[in-house]
Amino acid sequence: MKRMTTLMIGATFMAMAVALTGNMKGKVFGAETQTTSVKTTVETTTVTPETTTKKEKKKEVPLVFKKKYKTITAGKSKKFKVNLKGVKWTSSNKKIAGVSKKGVVKAKRYGKVWLSAKVGKKVVKAKVKVLPKKVIGIDAGHQRQGNNGLEAIGPGASTKKPKVSGGTAGVFTKKPEFVLTLEIATKLKKKLINQGYKVVMTRTSHDVNITNIQRAQKLNKKCNIAIRLHADGGPASAQGASALYAPASNPYVGKLAPKSKRLSECVLNAYCEATGIRSRGLSARNDLSGTNWSTIPVTLLEMGFMTNASDDRYMSSAEGQKKMVDGIAKGIEKYFGYQ
Ligand SMILES: [Zn+2]
Repeated sequence: MKRMTTLMIGATFMAMAVALTGNMKGKVFGAETQTTSVKTTVETTTVTPETTTKKEKKKEVPLVFKKKYKTITAGKSKKFKVNLKGVKWTSSNKKIAGVSKKGVVKAKRYGKVWLSAKVGKKVVKAKVKVLPKKVIGIDAGHQRQGNNGLEAIGPGASTKKPKVSGGTAGVFTKKPEFVLTLEIATKLKKKLINQGYKVVMTRTSHDVNITNIQRAQKLNKKCNIAIRLHADGGPASAQGASALYAPASNPYVGKLAPKSKRLSECVLNAYCEATGIRSRGLSARNDLSGTNWSTIPVTLLEMGFMTNASDDRYMSSAEGQKKMVDGIAKGIEKYFGYQ
């Protein structure tokens, strides 16, 4: 009974508190509710001269966004706005997106960033997701151990080829092809990310066992285009770069031929221009499993001959690799019309 009375008094007080504050939704009980209601009562009963009230009201205008964006595609700019003047804009990661004094946000590369607008002590923040310009698949050709098991060279094909062949090696550097292709792939990935692309790699280490079909399928799922990186082998005098693509007559990916051919052209031309490596031109092929299983535009770049001392040395030099990567990236930019 005694307990019941206390409960009832408590409930009556609660009802009063709710009536007083007007903003209690009846879900908060106990000390917290009482404190809030008392505080509110004090505030509303305090008498202040009218001029002070006006000033205080002015000060209390909250800082809010008048214009903001949840997503911006890399390479694009959007103007953010708040309701107050004298804003100081900052970005939590300038590499992902920078912001000008006027609130113009320039999205640079794929990722998430917080933008802050500060006026006096007031701060508002907006989370912005920078979307990639495009998603690029990179297949660093080969792997430490080739896989001589067989797989169909294309969907529905009766012809079979080894799942991953061993690749060539440098006559001068003694470097295996699988090392060179991953070196270039890794640098290309970094470069493309900085240019606003998202990159998917088929492999990031040598000790993998991924067949050419699996490589194609991985990139098909997530990417807009695929770049396959390889180096050639042949007689010592043979040198230069070429780009391999599937022509319209290809029974597996023929319908991608116009796009794949143009991608091959863009990449090969920009690559040869940047490096000075001689172009051997485009090569139409029907026997490349990794290309035939592709459902996205794809090119296979033979970057040079590892069996040629000059090409081999160049492709392993720091200066050469920088130019190779710059060239491939430029070709991709050109293919998508960004340059
Ligand atoms: Zn190869």
